[in-house]
Amino acid sequence: MEPKHIKPASAAAQALGWVDEKTRAVSPPLHTATTYLRDPDNQYRSGRGYIRADNPAFDQAEALLNHLEGGAGAMLFSSGMAAATSVFLALKPGDHVVAPKVIYWGLRNWLQGFAQDWGLQVELVDMTDLAALNRALQPGRTKLVWIETPANPTWVITDIAATAELAHRAGARLAVDSTVATPVLTQPLALGADVVMHAATKYLNGHSDVLAGALVTARDDEFWQRLKAIRHDLGAVVGSFEAWLLLRGMRTLFVRVNTACRNAQQIAEHFAGHPRIEAVLYPGRPTAQGHAIAARQMTGGFGGMLSLRIKGGEAAAIATAARVQLWKRATSLGGVESLIEHRASIEGAGSPAPVDMLRLSTGIEDAGDLIADLEQALAKS
Ligand SMILES: *Cc1c(COP(=O)(O)O)cnc(C)c1O
Repeated sequence: MEPKHIKPASAAAQALGWVDEKTRAVSPPLHTATTYLRDPDNQYRSGRGYIRADNPAFDQAEALLNHLEGGAGAMLFSSGMAAATSVFLALKPGDHVVAPKVIYWGLRNWLQGFAQDWGLQVELVDMTDLAALNRALQPGRTKLVWIETPANPTWVITDIAATAELAHRAGARLAVDSTVATPVLTQPLALGADVVMHAATKYLNGHSDVLAGALVTARDDEFWQRLKAIRHDLGAVVGSFEAWLLLRGMRTLFVRVNTACRNAQQIAEHFAGHPRIEAVLYPGRPTAQGHAIAARQMTGGFGGMLSLRIKGGEAAAIATAARVQLWKRATSLGGVESLIEHRASIEGAGSPAPVDMLRLSTGIEDAGDLIADLEQALAKS
């Protein structure tokens, strides 16, 4: 059946129904060649020449992600950061860009360091405040608005449709880091975004064993061609084996994300009002910032990421993380195993992460086990 006639979960499970023509294999071969045969008449009719430009190992993962996001094209990158920074490098020195204060810390550091040195005029705003965004926009000069929703590490929600409208009115593109939402929960392009970015390292792969990134575009335009050239020229391409693993991971995306959402929601509800918890930060809670927007622009759940502020401050938070037995004390997110970390320790100076906060990436384990482990870790705090 044509992918357009089936639900996204079916399209993902079957990787768009692809079967290898030669062998009838239902999962793709792993191509590792770095170069391709030229025809005797000096042409490259296969469309493939050298691996930095193109790789058959990318085709299925890119096609599936493009399908799930409803895009006009998708590109894999060597990492989420390679994908994100390429979007900014496709602009010109002197261009003004607006990005959120609450944002993946690695990108914030790069924007405030390299990007500014390179000549971008970077302005960080509170993206939950549309009036603040509107004040920051400089029609004609602002070329890009970057948002992340739900946003690291406090999971605040940004209204994609409203942000797109403001950005477009000022003549700027809107790019959305949709790593945490995944295409299971949100399709930013349908809400008006121009580019979607994923740290495919996280949910898309889902098994904490691949570093990869991705961009999906609403239109195959001059900006997209510039992004293609950047990936090619910087060699920001993912390896063949990583691309192969990524497609394998994406086939279980829906079951993993749906289970992680259910677990996160249960954990958030269980610990709300808990005597050892100062606050639960999770967009699925009715009292959370942006809950109404999240309920509108996310379907089927509010994501697998939440944060807990621990009573007793930084020392109590770190001590709680030290006592977990089932949760793994590690950074990153989106894997099948649940991870916990004291986020301020990772982000360092300038981080919006409260010092009493633990960031939780909920995996697909039994929710009761995950809650019991946190309970025993908190009991001694
Ligand atoms: C991890 C992450 C990134 C960076 O991705 P890498 O693959 O580690 O380079 C960007 N944005 C978000 C939201 C992330 O979680």
